[in-house]
Amino acid sequence: MCSHPVIKKPQDKIKWSNEKIIDEAFIWQALEAGRRAGTEQVKWIITKALEKKGLSLEETAVLLCQDQQPERLSEVLEAARRIKEEIYGKRLVFFAPLYIGNQCVNNCLYCAYRRDHRGLERRTLSPGEITRQVEILEDQGHKRLLMVAGDTPDFQSNLEALKTIYATRKNQGEIRRVNVNLAPPTLDQFRELKAVGIGTYQCFQETYHRMTYQYMHPDGPKADYFWRLTVMDRAFQAGVDDVSTGVLLGLFDYRFDVAALVMHGQYLDKRYGVGPHAVSVPRLRVAHGTPLCDDNTLEANKYLLSDDQFKLVVGVIRLALPYTGLILTTRETPAMRQELFNAGVSQVSAGSQTEVGGYNREDQRPAGQFEIEDRRPLDEVVRNVVESGNIPSFCTACYRKGRTGEVIMDLLKPGTIKNYCLPNALLTFKEYLMDYASRGTREAGEKQLAGQLMGLEENMRAETTRRLERLENGERDLYF
Ligand code: SF4
Ligand code: SF4
Repeated sequence: MCSHPVIKKPQDKIKWSNEKIIDEAFIWQALEAGRRAGTEQVKWIITKALEKKGLSLEETAVLLCQDQQPERLSEVLEAARRIKEEIYGKRLVFFAPLYIGNQCVNNCLYCAYRRDHRGLERRTLSPGEITRQVEILEDQGHKRLLMVAGDTPDFQSNLEALKTIYATRKNQGEIRRVNVNLAPPTLDQFRELKAVGIGTYQCFQETYHRMTYQYMHPDGPKADYFWRLTVMDRAFQAGVDDVSTGVLLGLFDYRFDVAALVMHGQYLDKRYGVGPHAVSVPRLRVAHGTPLCDDNTLEANKYLLSDDQFKLVVGVIRLALPYTGLILTTRETPAMRQELFNAGVSQVSAGSQTEVGGYNREDQRPAGQFEIEDRRPLDEVVRNVVESGNIPSFCTACYRKGRTGEVIMDLLKPGTIKNYCLPNALLTFKEYLMDYASRGTREAGEKQLAGQLMGLEENMRAETTRRLERLENGERDLYF
């Protein structure tokens, strides 16, 4: 999703055209070999992954071919849980998407915001409407948003929207980090985004398979596969070193697309010393007014994943890219989300609306980009995370402390980031419990918080305890 440049300026000419970011032939060979791998080889790869150094593309391909092996799936998910907890601890970071407009010049076959969906009422939120949406999200307790917009030539309105979000304060509420999902910007546009303080820049390739990509994106600027593929290169060149990639599962063979996603991450890591901060693998859902996935056509799609295949994907990504944040959205059911909270996932959205203006109940219209499966309010999902043995987090510390790019990679790769993640989770969760939680969530949450506090190393426990007391005495926004 997102805003595309009208003019490509000279400095934006791709300098990487001779480099193979995605080598399709290599991926197919790896998958072919992966199908022939024996049990011993699979087990060896899972054991190797526990060293938290990641997997080669060939090893990743082997694991992606295990979807008919329930025992291997269990082993992958257990390894994913261990790796995630050793790197990040038991925290799960919360965020909510904020759709600021559904105008779009593209025609993606799977998206309700596509240009040719004539029945859709088009809308771009005014600054006042954005403020109202943000106030509602702040009242729920959110501190981190993902701003999403369709692809329009009006890039400036995205910058204004970002400023409006950061400027909105209601009671104790404030949004401390805004990640953005926008169409691939130019270098200059990336610099402007950086100047207004974006968190992570997120852009999905949707599918890395070129022919399928061409079919899914028949016209509009998004039809340019290579402009999209090289967007993260432009981000790094413009000084935006916190990026997030993804694929839309169900457009093509998931094994190919997930292998390519891993290959893209490895390319960025090798070239810039910084891999993707996070990856996302949403599954295709019903999207009204689309040729590919309206109520009648979605089920006929031969590339839809089964639940077990989806779980395998989540687990394999954690093993292949151990230091990368892994996002789980409300496209999945509450039951699936609960299971995956303990299988490698590290970030979750909750209380989400995919309609423009959807957080304002009186203003809600049936015009979402796609349908979601988990419509529970934030408080219920927070409670659910506590019950799963994890600690909800509203942390935004790294971006505000300048821990991005290589700095955060140096903490993520050896797994020392959890020395920040866990104390910050406790501090931000404490704020949530005091300011927003229902009574039941507060009681369950305080118990969980006390238990997790005891798990901190002695000095950190003492300092975190002091800061928790300061929060109880009325201070806010304390972090390491
Ligand atoms: Fe994004 Fe939808 Fe527009 Fe495609 S049609 S660019 S997915 S908003
Ligand atoms: Fe994310 Fe950094 Fe906070 Fe950990 S400490 S949750 S990596 S922002």
